[in-house]
Amino acid sequence: MIVRFPESLSRVKKLFGWISMVSMLLALAQAEAMQRSSQPLVIVLLGPPGAGKGTHAPPLSEATGLPHISTGDLFRTHIQQGTDLGKLAKTYIDQGNLVPDELVLDMLFDRLKEPDCTQGSILDGFPRTLPQAKSLDARLKGRCAMLVLNFYVPDSILIERIAGRLICRDCKRPYHKLFDPPRETGFCEQCGGSLYTREDDQEAIVRKRLTVYRTETLPLIEYYAAQKDVLKEIDAQNSKDGVFHDILEVIPTSIKARRHLSVQ
Ligand code: AMP
Repeated sequence: MIVRFPESLSRVKKLFGWISMVSMLLALAQAEAMQRSSQPLVIVLLGPPGAGKGTHAPPLSEATGLPHISTGDLFRTHIQQGTDLGKLAKTYIDQGNLVPDELVLDMLFDRLKEPDCTQGSILDGFPRTLPQAKSLDARLKGRCAMLVLNFYVPDSILIERIAGRLICRDCKRPYHKLFDPPRETGFCEQCGGSLYTREDDQEAIVRKRLTVYRTETLPLIEYYAAQKDVLKEIDAQNSKDGVFHDILEVIPTSIKARRHLSVQ
């Protein structure tokens, strides 16, 4: 057999070239994954009113140690306290409209400055418009990883869910007159607070909120789908436990490890 030495040498060189390029790419991917896992994480709960964001956010907060921040709750607190922001926000909320972006952004970004948000947060009901999503991206860029959970539920189920919804005035835990009634009528079984029906949960307002959701918020799905590894779909028609199980499955293992969480 005749071995053409220079030719074999160039093949070997080429092979080493490939091997070193592949290992370089693997190292880069590993470094990126490590950086992402040690970064704070912002989890965005996206979905129409009644999709279950407010139901799953508190146990998710418990499981991950990240604070649950609901812009709707922040506005309702302002309304209860009679602040200028609350009075202004109420005029939009009662009509089923969105509160203007600048008011929401100032309120939310102030909240994100608080020390409990250093490891990240769970955002419920924010962002709801493209300018809100872009402002959030600009604020988090390079400092936080982001995960967006899109809760999918058909409209017929949403109306049925919202029509029977009751909320605790104190701890905000949601109930449903038929599907998840409290043990003692009118009172929260978690904290004993009184239960009430939100004014904007009347059917006509809910329909308006769903229309606003379709025009203003739905485009965010495409926006986040264009970002690598950010958007995860959650089929929110399943049982409460089933949905929560699916949520835990898409939470990065690094976050679960922080809390020694396991999916059963
Ligand atoms: P929620 O409790 O998330 O259903 O919010 C109740 C209402 O608060 C909404 O229907 C809006 O009027 C207002 N709201 C809450 N979050 C936002 C937001 N990110 N942008 C604009 N309006 C909001």
